[in-house]
Amino acid sequence: MTSQIDARAATAAATAYLREHDAEHLAQLDEFLRMRSVSADSECADDVRRTAQWIVDELTRLEIDRPTLHETSHHPIVTGEWMGAGAEAPTVLVYCHYDVQPPDPLDEWIRPPFEPRHEEGRVYARGSGDDKGQLFMHLKAVEAWMRTAGSLPVNLRFFFEGDEEVGSEPIEQFIDEHPELLAADVCVVSDGDTFDDDGTPAIGYGLRGIAYWEVRVQGPRHDVHSGQYGGGVDNPANVLVRILASLTDESGRFTVPGFYDRVRDLSSEERAAYAALPFDEAAWADETGIPAAMDGEQGHSLLERLSARPTFDINGISGGYTGAGAKTIIPARATAKISTRLVPDQDYREIEQLVKRHIESLAPPSVQVEVHVVHGGAPAITPLDHPGVAPASRALEAGFGKAPLFQRSGGSVPVVAALDARLGLKTLMVGFANPTGNFHAPNEWISLRNLRDGMASLVHLWAELGMMHKDELRGDSQE
Ligand SMILES: [Zn+2]
Repeated sequence: MTSQIDARAATAAATAYLREHDAEHLAQLDEFLRMRSVSADSECADDVRRTAQWIVDELTRLEIDRPTLHETSHHPIVTGEWMGAGAEAPTVLVYCHYDVQPPDPLDEWIRPPFEPRHEEGRVYARGSGDDKGQLFMHLKAVEAWMRTAGSLPVNLRFFFEGDEEVGSEPIEQFIDEHPELLAADVCVVSDGDTFDDDGTPAIGYGLRGIAYWEVRVQGPRHDVHSGQYGGGVDNPANVLVRILASLTDESGRFTVPGFYDRVRDLSSEERAAYAALPFDEAAWADETGIPAAMDGEQGHSLLERLSARPTFDINGISGGYTGAGAKTIIPARATAKISTRLVPDQDYREIEQLVKRHIESLAPPSVQVEVHVVHGGAPAITPLDHPGVAPASRALEAGFGKAPLFQRSGGSVPVVAALDARLGLKTLMVGFANPTGNFHAPNEWISLRNLRDGMASLVHLWAELGMMHKDELRGDSQE
């Protein structure tokens, strides 16, 4: 534990270091963003590995102990630790992911996705917001402390993953096999966004889970002429869209029986907190480029539906002829990728099977329907009275000059639920991407403001948590 006066002076020196090295850090960020760490693309496997090694080299340069690249069943995991703050000080596990989404569709990018450009106070590149930019901010906050104070106010462990965008398959086994590398009093995950693009930070306390399937409908052995066979051979594309259309009602509510059984209703306090969040629906729709928000589930506000209610989406659909002109065929097959976002206390493994069985039961005898589970992840929630929430809140206010708002995120970060289930570790989600920063889409960006204020917030966060005794932070008695 450090005294308040020492901490204030040391924090000021560390934030000054960030300001003085701003240009150098931005150039280094570009180097990190140029690496094509696309986890879904097997042709990028070497680039994914190079990115992991780049992080190991950075940790080594920062004098972090045991920087290690671990082999997994898929892409490498990187860990390292700095335990110099002593046995009484809290230990924080920092999680981010270094893999990125595929950049497609490439022709919608103004500049190539792996050639970062700095414009309008933003850094444009795949991964700038999700999540390499945020991982980089953590490295620089550590650097600021190490190069000024020569130490950190807390013990830190790092857990950097390369499979988040493809479902985090290796992490559960890794957590089970290496609990000693991940042991901590609290986890800080930076893989989310600020509340708005005007510098209002946010602390995320809930995440949606996910379940993901591929549906394949197989008809005739090969494409057949619709004039010759139409009326006798069932059309796999017709069957597929009929099945998929039956999965939601007009309000977007999922129709699979049992799907909502474990959905935890929002408490009246949470609903009040949601209602109090500043939110301009028209501006949101305008920014998104849609004429209006969908009707959605009755009895739930748009914000609630965006993060605290489950959803269903067709993520992609293909089959038949889509080239120029007309080609009168009945396609041999049609496929779709579909997914649901899940909320506490839905169990993704149960949902995976529920939906698989339901879709298979809808198959007419005239075609073959197969449903493959692609990946899944559990939803998670951290109580708002967790002892780490108040210091995190002060740190964000110090970094951004505005108090954070509390929100549940609509996205999924499988590691959060896995750390809770396997190590009893609660997570504070402190995210710095911009909410309209096009993550998973063309022209992804993060603002320089979020980069700078976010790094400063992390410097403050370690100071804030460093003033606590580790027993204070754990919050074991809480649930
Ligand atoms: Zn992410």
